[in-house]
Amino acid sequence: LYGAERPNSHGVDLSDQAQLAALLDGMREVQDRHWQAAPLIGGVSQGGTPRLVHEPADDTRVVGAVIEATPEQAGQALERALRAFPAWDDTPAAARADCLDRAAELLEADAPLLLSLLQREAGKTLADAIAELREAVDFCRYYAARARADFAEPQTMPGPTGESNRLGWRGRGVFVAISPWNFPLAIFTGQVVAALVAGNAVIAKPAEQTPLVAAYAVETLHRAGVPVDALQLLPGDGAIGAALVGDARIAGVAFTGSTETAWAINRTLAARRAPIVPFIAETGGLNAMIVDSSALPEQVVADVLASSFQSAGQRCSALRLLLVQEDIADKLLTMLAGAMAELVVGDPRDLATDVGPVIDAEARAMLDAHAAEMERSARLVYRCPLPEATARGSFVAPQAFELGDAAQLEREVFGPILHVVRFRADELDTLVDTVNASGFGLTFGIHSRIDATVQQVLARVRAGNCYVNRNMIGAVVGVQPFGGEGLSGTGPKAGGPHYLYRFAAERTVSINT
Ligand code: GLU
Repeated sequence: LYGAERPNSHGVDLSDQAQLAALLDGMREVQDRHWQAAPLIGGVSQGGTPRLVHEPADDTRVVGAVIEATPEQAGQALERALRAFPAWDDTPAAARADCLDRAAELLEADAPLLLSLLQREAGKTLADAIAELREAVDFCRYYAARARADFAEPQTMPGPTGESNRLGWRGRGVFVAISPWNFPLAIFTGQVVAALVAGNAVIAKPAEQTPLVAAYAVETLHRAGVPVDALQLLPGDGAIGAALVGDARIAGVAFTGSTETAWAINRTLAARRAPIVPFIAETGGLNAMIVDSSALPEQVVADVLASSFQSAGQRCSALRLLLVQEDIADKLLTMLAGAMAELVVGDPRDLATDVGPVIDAEARAMLDAHAAEMERSARLVYRCPLPEATARGSFVAPQAFELGDAAQLEREVFGPILHVVRFRADELDTLVDTVNASGFGLTFGIHSRIDATVQQVLARVRAGNCYVNRNMIGAVVGVQPFGGEGLSGTGPKAGGPHYLYRFAAERTVSINT
């Protein structure tokens, strides 16, 4: 289905000087573009008072402007989407899938434009932006392939002679997609195209911080053939999302964001005197990695750096709690501090940058407050210096603190702050129980060369994505279906073979022949 014949997007080979130079030239040409986003209702851009969008890397640099939706516009968008639904649902799954494949091509063709926008609006380093674009392309192609395989024909079920039983799939109605700022292209596109290809009309409510990337993605899907009324865009704050979720006429919600917001959505859905609809939530994590004394220290350090500090730690998969066996802890932490000292923090447009800004001043303030609290209750292992040039942006220094006890970290800290705890070999099971007891279950890492230890931990841990002897971020579409358990999400896993089914209505037809 998705493998040798339909490879994942291969992105850009940055070690190829010619490819890199062409890409950078293309990005330079568009780097001063003034981007715009507005409610897109029936394909028509709505007027209003624009709000400027600034770069997280430098608040004197303007990326563009957004006009946010009003509650009345949410109602209009919903009505148009409801009217568009039956015809889109009647469109054969293969034709809907063709739109996704065309969108994938358009996204790839616009790489310089999109990478520049991702850098500016979301503060992504070039490597992160490339990975994100690849993931968006992969979601389009993978869900297109799944829809063709799973939804094109009803499944024939067994039955007695003289009776035909067939199980088919249809769209449910209008889905609301509420997406996060940390993957403003990939997760946004993934949610929207999954709902669309399953036969639903969609209203997309992107994160407030990243409306410009979302507007670009919606226009691309329209260019790829998705009817303008089947996909409506409503930039805005939580009030717009709440208005949509509370409406009795919606048929489902796909959400990625905080556990707090997921609870609020769940409450709103539950309060409706209306059909009980699917709620697909991908939320936070309090992700741990266990490193025992048999692990390869160099590999551990490289994987910890990637897992904790890539994307400035703003991935829900990121490593938050590093658990190190006491016998090797001193050595490992010395090596980790040395490696952190080599990280380049700065402008994401600079190719040498490893760690860019966090998304906005509010995120920085929250992270700074957490770091201040850690200084009182934990030991600082290392903090990267922040260069002068970061003063105009929302930068947080990558830093690591050693805590006395794993249970001390109670909530997700969404940024480049790592927490480290030592453990004794005989404490392994208790340690896993402590991690499980947080109630989150998204990603989990193990570094050990003892197979019995790996199996012991894997058998006990309750997390959706477990990574052994590697980093724990960057799940690949169709390869590592992604999503957590418990407080981390409802499933089904994004980029996995069962994701589309949750967006579809199952219908059985039994005919007496
Ligand atoms: N799928 C991403 C990863 O594996 C994380 C998604 C998220 O942060 O929401 O790193």
